[in-house]
Amino acid sequence: MDTPRSKRQLNCRICGSGNLRVYLDLGSTPLANSYLRKGDLSAEEFREELALQICLDCGLSQLTTVVNPDLMFKQYLYVSSTTETFRNHCVDLAGSAAVVAGCRPGDWVLDIASNDGCLLSKFRDLGMQVVGVDPAENLAAEASKAGIPTLCTYWSHETAEAVVAGYGRPQVITATNVFAHADDVHGFVQAVDRCLSPKGLFVIECPYVLDFIEKNEFDTAYHEHLSYIGIHPMQVLMGKHGMRIFKVEYFEGIHGGTIRVFVGREGEYPFDASVERFLRKEQEFGIREFRRYEAFGERILANKQRLLKLMGRLHAEGKTIWAYGASAKGNTLMNFFGMTSQLVPVVLDDNPKKWDWYTPGAHMRITGIQELVSAKVDYLLLLAWNFEPEIRGRCQAVGYAGRFILPIPDVRILESANAPKEMRGGA
Ligand SMILES: [Zn+2]
Repeated sequence: MDTPRSKRQLNCRICGSGNLRVYLDLGSTPLANSYLRKGDLSAEEFREELALQICLDCGLSQLTTVVNPDLMFKQYLYVSSTTETFRNHCVDLAGSAAVVAGCRPGDWVLDIASNDGCLLSKFRDLGMQVVGVDPAENLAAEASKAGIPTLCTYWSHETAEAVVAGYGRPQVITATNVFAHADDVHGFVQAVDRCLSPKGLFVIECPYVLDFIEKNEFDTAYHEHLSYIGIHPMQVLMGKHGMRIFKVEYFEGIHGGTIRVFVGREGEYPFDASVERFLRKEQEFGIREFRRYEAFGERILANKQRLLKLMGRLHAEGKTIWAYGASAKGNTLMNFFGMTSQLVPVVLDDNPKKWDWYTPGAHMRITGIQELVSAKVDYLLLLAWNFEPEIRGRCQAVGYAGRFILPIPDVRILESANAPKEMRGGA
């Protein structure tokens, strides 16, 4: 049932087909970025269905329910420039986009959902003029203070008009990790078309749906993340707006597998062989075949049983288990697996802005790695499993001698390099 807080997704967001089938139901969960203060822990949290369905016509994987964005994006604790990997990735993206679009110093660049301005600062380093758009009031204010002019609003036709009137038409428009969050993707692309200069370049980055399925990355499903994108459905979308994907790049280490999609108006850019390569790969995978998604759903349920069994046994043995990585991913995993603060009381995170908050649903207290030094912890559940080598290194550097549990793509236990010899081998 539709309410002011959420609505059902009955037709495909891209092609409009009603030929949708559900393949994984993660249950009714709180919003993955709605962190709580201690005083709010007894209040009832907003919960909504979190389930995935596939469009059998165009191959777009999408949530069954769309939560009102005002409930999700007004205050965002995630700050993109906190990880070095991400900062380096921004340098690469700015350099690559500037070359492909043939930018000259002084050209305008617009970043949609510009967060704290990290990516735009890299374009500015190349001599370009920059402007950002982001609905999170705290982040927009932070970026503007750092010299990156930022309009605090959602991306829309009106926002596109305001950019053109105030700054002119950008030669490059970037949208990293936001396209999958957009409900009205047609409105999104139309607004880009309104704004972009005639020979301009539009670059989208988002997690790749084939990695999502093949690497069991179900924890990247949360209410903000409405679409799970492949090149095939994206090309269908662009074709409806006189645009075309002409080149695709792939980054295995970013968000568990990310595609960078270069889009231009029909005929403006030479067609790169990478597009055909990705389309063929998706065809061979079976991007529109329900059985591929159904098998994924079954693997995730089996994974859940294995992890719960292990955690239950360790808890019964009196072991202390903490977690690492208070992210949206971690919250999906903890809530889908039904874990609570009795089982995992504390989660460590590198972002000091999150310290002393509590995770939604599971209510784990968030703190920094400094607490690990004095606490007697036996196991660390790596919720940020995609940063496993860095996190292990950091924990070992502060003297942590316990073990690590990797939950995805399959449950595994790893020793700390600091573990005494007699502890090594077997769990
Ligand atoms: Zn579709």
